[in-house]
Amino acid sequence: MRLTVVGCSGSFAGPDSPASCYLVQAEHAGRTWNLVVDLGNGALGALQRHIDLDSIDAIVLSHLHPDHCLDLCGLFVVQKYNPARGGIPPRRIPVYGPADTAARMSRANGVTLSESQDPHGLDPEFDFRRMVSGVPFTLGPFTVRPQRVNHPVEAFGMRIEADGRVLCYTGDTDSCTALVGLLRDSDLALVDSAFQEGRDATTGIHLSGRRAAQAAVEAGGVRRLMLTHIPPWNDVSVSVAEAQGVWSGEVEVATQGTTYEL
Ligand SMILES: [Zn+2]
Ligand SMILES: [Zn+2]
Repeated sequence: MRLTVVGCSGSFAGPDSPASCYLVQAEHAGRTWNLVVDLGNGALGALQRHIDLDSIDAIVLSHLHPDHCLDLCGLFVVQKYNPARGGIPPRRIPVYGPADTAARMSRANGVTLSESQDPHGLDPEFDFRRMVSGVPFTLGPFTVRPQRVNHPVEAFGMRIEADGRVLCYTGDTDSCTALVGLLRDSDLALVDSAFQEGRDATTGIHLSGRRAAQAAVEAGGVRRLMLTHIPPWNDVSVSVAEAQGVWSGEVEVATQGTTYEL
């Protein structure tokens, strides 16, 4: 299994990275499968450096904040209007997300019909599927186990398993008991670290570097800890130092454009 960080800027796109987007790949049945986890602002451009957009097997949206989902509107244009298809209807891409994903993305895209006329205006292009906490689903070589986390909207972290490896992604969350089961015995834990201790006092939104490391320690068996979702206004070294105060191993930071082998 391979993880490519397409975008990792926290909360909004930064000068060096789009907002959240992670390409997860594994070989199965004679080809490479492409799972796109989150598709935040600016990510659709950078994603094309790594794969052809026609080769996306499925998309998983951790939640419906713009920095995790909004470039689905750009992909809709590719699906609907790409002249290379010669008018042939697109393959509907499965999109897993919270309740209301289809309607929310339709409104974000500016569909003008009323909801009673056209409740899911993007349905011809995308096969929207509701994600439910604790209910796993499979996509080719991947098993995805979503888990509700601690964020102001319906938000999921997820364990992604393939090739006998486990990638964990917290999505956006503050500390919560769900992180124990989510992160336990993972090969790589990609953990929200948007906040800084002493600066961001609001609870129930994001982890800090320190709380990210604490979650990994409490879970147990985390082999690689990688901080992500760090906004452009943060000094990354502060987040790393916070985590190093708790985590005895190397503290990695997600880097845009980098591929990690699990
Ligand atoms: Zn976010
Ligand atoms: Zn969020």
